[in-house]
Amino acid sequence: MSNIAIVTGGSRGIGAATARMLAQRGYDVAISYLSNADAAAAVVRDIEAAGRRGLAVKCDAGGEAETERLFETVDKELGTLTALVNNAGMTGLAGRLDEAPAETIRACIDANLYGTIWASRAAVRRMSTRFGGRGGAIVNVSSIASRLGSPNYYVWYAAAKGGVDALTIGLAKEVVKEGIRVNAVAPGIIDTDIHESSSGLPGRVEKEAHLVPIGRAGTPEEVAEGIVWLLSDAASYVTADIMQISGAR
Ligand code: NAP
Repeated sequence: MSNIAIVTGGSRGIGAATARMLAQRGYDVAISYLSNADAAAAVVRDIEAAGRRGLAVKCDAGGEAETERLFETVDKELGTLTALVNNAGMTGLAGRLDEAPAETIRACIDANLYGTIWASRAAVRRMSTRFGGRGGAIVNVSSIASRLGSPNYYVWYAAAKGGVDALTIGLAKEVVKEGIRVNAVAPGIIDTDIHESSSGLPGRVEKEAHLVPIGRAGTPEEVAEGIVWLLSDAASYVTADIMQISGAR
């Protein structure tokens, strides 16, 4: 039976690298995206070029009903889900909390925290042996922001990722005897569009690489390696873990 994965926010950055790597390692992969249909289509082409089935679905991660439809589409088009990567996320324009508009904060918590909750619930309903499923694995893409707090950048984002960490630990314990492992990765500064397109901090990667003990930003592929390992049977005794991929930051 084939492995079937959903990667939320799989059109760009860490999600796109993860979707491509999963296809290379034998998974059929559905990606969701928010608005960038061209980028999503390019990732699907790469999944198919790796010999696997690929699917792109437009779905705002923060929407409960939209997320239900995403999972139903995957049920129909690809089959029984075995892996979920909750990657969709954004920060909103960087700044102090006392200056942040409510819509920025809400959009961030919707995408990062509610998104992880809705998709994890839908995945458990499909994977859990309690519901006749064949088990599976979930990896949440958190951030070291939950530990650092991100003052003057986006403390609301750090709070959302703190929620993701708590969900990871709690849900892992809740479903551990139902064939499901739940883990997270906590990346440090990774070289993707997010810093410019979401945080409004162009050049952040170059400007702040010296703050990372290893001396550089990470690549999306370096994060994807951790995610793909946590999803794999090689990590069969690993659950409720939050793996830092942060160059010692
Ligand atoms: P990115 O390059 O900006 O890509 C974001 C991806 O998420 C895109 O595919 C985007 O879709 C999608 N997306 C954004 N909001 C969404 C929503 N509401 N619903 C569905 N999809 C949505 O970001 P990234 O750096 O790869 O970040 C991926 C994850 O890693 C996020 O959870 C982020 O918080 C986390 N992270 C990143 C870093 C870093 O330094 N880059 C560090 C720690 C954690 P479109 O293409 O349609 O816009």
